[in-house]
Amino acid sequence: MRVPFIAANWKMFKTVHEGVVFVKEFRSMVKDISDVEIVVAPPFTAVHAVAEAARNSVVGVAGQDVHWEREGAFTGAISAGMLREAGAEYVIIGHSERRRLFGDTDETVNRKLVAALGSRLTPIVCIGETLEERERGETLAVLDRQIKAGLDSLTGEQVASLVLAYEPVWAIGTGRNATPLEAGEAHGHIRNRLRQWFGAPAADHCHVIYGGSVKPDNIHEIVVHPDVDGALVGGASLEVRAFFDIVARSRQSTV
Ligand code: PEP
Repeated sequence: MRVPFIAANWKMFKTVHEGVVFVKEFRSMVKDISDVEIVVAPPFTAVHAVAEAARNSVVGVAGQDVHWEREGAFTGAISAGMLREAGAEYVIIGHSERRRLFGDTDETVNRKLVAALGSRLTPIVCIGETLEERERGETLAVLDRQIKAGLDSLTGEQVASLVLAYEPVWAIGTGRNATPLEAGEAHGHIRNRLRQWFGAPAADHCHVIYGGSVKPDNIHEIVVHPDVDGALVGGASLEVRAFFDIVARSRQSTV
């Protein structure tokens, strides 16, 4: 049984102070919720302070990216061990903004994933097609490529521990979320591939969550599908009440 997994991607928003204020308020709002895995991903500068503010609560903390090397001359980069030391337990890998603006590829996603697992970070791996790819009818082929190359060489046990975020690029920050039918089709396909390529226990345990214009008023129709295990939320996670409502409404379905 997979409990809903709801993650906030704050992107390049919130100072240290703003992140701490958010989490102090939010942790008391969710203190009685034990049946949802909740994560917030602040900018690197706020990871440590937000993790301290979330200590002994049900809120976990994620980095928004990671480098695959342990240390070295990689200006601007952060290693998995550094994130872990700062208090993160999760890391987002391969977000479409990283792929589009910063050159992430399926190959670098794979290297980051291996590094994250090696430092006991739970990876939240983003996959999803662009609008052009969807219009050309390539959605499922793109997902196959991203899963095959991104998760290359992982064991079934490692895949079982992952969170895979299906984020159609055309739905991110656009206000146009995938319909429950579109999301259900993609999620069903991803689950089948996980079963085929990594075995039934991996497919049954891996969280496959949806991301793209999730809001309090559409979370329920999205997570109601049995293969949708939660959501990665951008814009609507910046406001504490909206994010709380998304968490609360994700529980109204059994996943
Ligand atoms: C995201 O950035 O991962 C995302 C899903 O953003 P939004 O919710 O704003 O579409």
